[in-house]
Amino acid sequence: MSLCDESALTLSRMLRSGEISSRKLTESALKRIQERDPVLNAFITTTTEEALEASDQSDQRLRQGKAASPLDGIPVAVKDNICTRGVRTTSASAILRNYVPPYDATVIERLKRDGAVIVGKTNLDQFGMGSSTENSVFGATKNPHDPEFVPGGSSGGSAAAVAAGEAVLALGSDTGGSLRLPAAYCGVVGFKPTYGRVSRYGLMSYASSLDQIGALGRRVEDCAMLLGTLCGYDPRDSTSADVQVPDFLQSLDKGVRGLRIGLPEEYFIEGLAPGIRARIEGAVRILEGEGAEILEVSLPHTRYAISAYYLIAAAEASSNLARLDGVRYGYRSPSGSDLTEMYEATRGEGFSLEVKRRVMLGSYVLSAGYYEAYYLKAQKVRRLVKEDFDGVFEKVDCLLTPVSPSPPFRPGEKVDDPLQMYLVDVYTSPLNMSGLPGMSLPCGWVDGLPVGLQIIGRAFDEATILRVAHAYQEAGDVTAGPRH
Ligand code: GLN
Repeated sequence: MSLCDESALTLSRMLRSGEISSRKLTESALKRIQERDPVLNAFITTTTEEALEASDQSDQRLRQGKAASPLDGIPVAVKDNICTRGVRTTSASAILRNYVPPYDATVIERLKRDGAVIVGKTNLDQFGMGSSTENSVFGATKNPHDPEFVPGGSSGGSAAAVAAGEAVLALGSDTGGSLRLPAAYCGVVGFKPTYGRVSRYGLMSYASSLDQIGALGRRVEDCAMLLGTLCGYDPRDSTSADVQVPDFLQSLDKGVRGLRIGLPEEYFIEGLAPGIRARIEGAVRILEGEGAEILEVSLPHTRYAISAYYLIAAAEASSNLARLDGVRYGYRSPSGSDLTEMYEATRGEGFSLEVKRRVMLGSYVLSAGYYEAYYLKAQKVRRLVKEDFDGVFEKVDCLLTPVSPSPPFRPGEKVDDPLQMYLVDVYTSPLNMSGLPGMSLPCGWVDGLPVGLQIIGRAFDEATILRVAHAYQEAGDVTAGPRH
């Protein structure tokens, strides 16, 4: 075990006591990148020099006893759809292959303010569209537990980096499950906060009403620590919520005695892999043993959520991606003899097939004559899905479900079958449709690959989710548990 494999909280203590330096820790993560990334391909860009410089500055602060935050000196990886000033940010696309943002996203400003050391930018499905991190112009990312399998997506690079010790923590984004699915497939912890909790300023938009930036780490407390840096009001994002942010580390140890936990029957139906079901049931028993009250609940509109999600996400994507036209920034095709031809050539060469599929689907459902039948209908379904959750949260404090109905799959297995790929998000996308926070937590292994437990909470009640997750982690400790 190297330094980069320790938990962020432990490292934070070691850094502040002077037991280790940020320089040594950062070098250990960079060394791991050199060793493992030729196979994993978790990173699109590594920022070695900047990272070493930032670590030296951290060490100076730490030596003077002036740590900027608990994160000071800790290596963090950042998904490559989050803008970093002076460091190219590609969204894994050809159209932004050489795009260097002139500004930092708010979350990057916050990471820097708190002294985090950014080690690089991680691979993703182009613009966040996908569930396997195969859809990238920089090549696919591999699962660190077995490179014969996908790491999940679209934040697959970030999840793989954290699982492999190439970074201690990472940022990802989640529009329909993109933090939680790769966390589940890579055996790490992934947290999607409530919509509005973390600023989207500087996140390359996929579907603005669903997108949310969140945290990845190997332990519950590590995610709690990172969330402390990320969360908070930002006037530069008009959907940012001015809601007080609690100290997430404070409530971790409260236990689950007296909490009411719901199991939505619609999440445990046919199509759920038996091995995954068994692991989730095991987790439920552990929490029951810790004193939680378990209740069966129903979310009847869940079954329509995934179809509505793919209409809304595509509609918003088609509108958001219109800005990439070769005129203002990004790639411009040299072919085409007039403006329209230049647009066509640029977008034709710059976007992947999956991105084009979304843009076409989205333009179709927004067009006159189809708007009412598809887009408006999907918005109504969205409302019903949210109302289901509102009703259930009057009776319970949180919900437990699987993250994904199926285990990690092999590269190529679903990439040519969009419907199969889309179905992987069946348990995660309802949260984005409702704006709710959710977490993916490792809860065991099936055939040598990790399984994820999803904990869903009330809006702005991330603290209860973390508390349940922590109780489970401490009781079961499957994060460090057996592989089979
Ligand atoms: N797989 C989903 C999609 O392709 C979710 C992606 C995400 O959350 N960014 O839309």
